[in-house]
Amino acid sequence: MGKDLELFVTALPAWLHCPICLEAAYPPLLVCAEQHIVCHSRAMAARVEVSPLVKRAFEEYSVKCRHRGCTWVGAISEESTHSNVTCMHRLVSCTQCNVHVAVSKTEEHIATECVETEIACPRGGANCGGMQKGLHRRGKSAEHDETCAEFECRVPDCKTRTTLANRTEHEAGCVRLRNEKAALAKEVGALRAQVAQLSTGRPAVSDGTPASRVDAGTSGSSAKRPKTNDDALLSHLSMRAAARTSAFGFKHSYHGH
Ligand SMILES: [Zn+2]
Ligand SMILES: [Zn+2]
Ligand SMILES: [Zn+2]
Ligand SMILES: [Zn+2]
Ligand SMILES: [Zn+2]
Repeated sequence: MGKDLELFVTALPAWLHCPICLEAAYPPLLVCAEQHIVCHSRAMAARVEVSPLVKRAFEEYSVKCRHRGCTWVGAISEESTHSNVTCMHRLVSCTQCNVHVAVSKTEEHIATECVETEIACPRGGANCGGMQKGLHRRGKSAEHDETCAEFECRVPDCKTRTTLANRTEHEAGCVRLRNEKAALAKEVGALRAQVAQLSTGRPAVSDGTPASRVDAGTSGSSAKRPKTNDDALLSHLSMRAAARTSAFGFKHSYHGH
């Protein structure tokens, strides 16, 4: 029943300690003619009364609030009311989950961490189609995530949403498609370059055509060059590029991207 000695801002003299619990003898109960005091009324058989004089002596010593984070300091006579009733740092049970939370933190607890608070799916909102249509208790997030179909594919530019269970497979397909697309784009680019070179009459250095074949002899005028073979190749390459591009377009839409 005594007050914790640690609460006193300055050390309490020994004569105010309770000989039974070794804490502060508050409220101070007189036990004998020598005016010894204790704080444990139940242990006393005969006369037990509070000593007003010793009580006043106690008021000389300030006490701190016992709750963590509180800076209140005051008279010992006010300590009980402060720490049990008005202190914002006293712990109370959350009305939803029963976890002990400081009074000042209850709103924050319910808003950000209470496992019983109903929250909407962080991806699909209140109608994601997963467990309980997206509205679920925070403590059930893992279960919701297993049924939620709103996990976005992490391959850039793909907006596909699917379940966690299907996402790995989907992303593998997405990466394949992306690589194919890049390879095709590269090939189309190379073909276009070749076509462009042929149409301007310049030699395509990359395909090994000897420059001397075109430029041999005079100033290199393209008008003097025989055209039949180049025209056929140009036509062939254009058709091939077009075919590749449209084949890719078909595949692309087929996969729904
Ligand atoms: Zn005591
Ligand atoms: Zn307090
Ligand atoms: Zn709670
Ligand atoms: Zn969801
Ligand atoms: Zn994807």
